[in-house]
Amino acid sequence: MVKAILKLSLLASICLLNNSYAQTEDIKGYTTEKAALVQGGFVRGQYQSCVSVTVKDTQTEQTGQCTDDGHFLIGFGRDADTKQTLIFETTSGQKAFTVEIKKRTYKTDKITGVPQKTVTPPDSVLARIRSENEKIWVARHHKTPRRDFLSDFIWPAQGRISGVYGSQRIFNGTPKRPHYGLDIAAITGTKVIAPAAGIVRLVHNDMFYSGGTLIVDHGFGITSTFIHLSKIDVIEGQIIKQGEKIAEIGQSGRASGPHLDWRINWFNVRLDPKLWLEDGGNLPPK
Ligand SMILES: [Zn+2]
Repeated sequence: MVKAILKLSLLASICLLNNSYAQTEDIKGYTTEKAALVQGGFVRGQYQSCVSVTVKDTQTEQTGQCTDDGHFLIGFGRDADTKQTLIFETTSGQKAFTVEIKKRTYKTDKITGVPQKTVTPPDSVLARIRSENEKIWVARHHKTPRRDFLSDFIWPAQGRISGVYGSQRIFNGTPKRPHYGLDIAAITGTKVIAPAAGIVRLVHNDMFYSGGTLIVDHGFGITSTFIHLSKIDVIEGQIIKQGEKIAEIGQSGRASGPHLDWRINWFNVRLDPKLWLEDGGNLPPK
């Protein structure tokens, strides 16, 4: 009995030593598994006793939960400050860290030939737009304990990259909100596959801006949104596997040609999908 207690206390002191050693060696205190320290980027990591993590700067603040074993993901918006504060809520109190992220420059895209009503929507559709935005908001705010976001993501379609994250958009001559998706142009009917496993949260065949719209929940606030689809093969609540066919490319909504627009969100924070792919999306779609 005494021996056992001795052993235990010895173990405990070794752990403490290890811990303090880790603290001094690794100032961060958490392990980074994958990170893109840029605007639109993210940090995926693990902090053993993490319960939740908040990321904040002078403009925004977002909190996410950690998995049972302390995995977490936090993201940075398109115009996030270069200095970000991470606050971990752990079983033994709070811990804060500072992370520096890189500023990006975004290009300006002039797009002509989209339906004019989608550039300056008539008053008669404002209520419709509001209700569709609410549905999208709800689909992106589930706190689902799925761990799909921990896997590596694959390209959801094959085609030509015709639009990137962050660009400033000018539609038919009118400046509009920035573009948050990764656009892959291919003919209507080209298959769209799930970049990661998840649960389908929203299926809508005809939203005003986004046309055929599909939202897949990868867990802990991370969602993929696919828009301008011509066909959707899955239903709300369905659990899908990585690589499974989920939809077909189209030109519905505010689009000037057939393409897939793929977005990734961490709750309302819009992230750059390219950074989630192997080699930061520099390898061609396959
Ligand atoms: Zn797009």
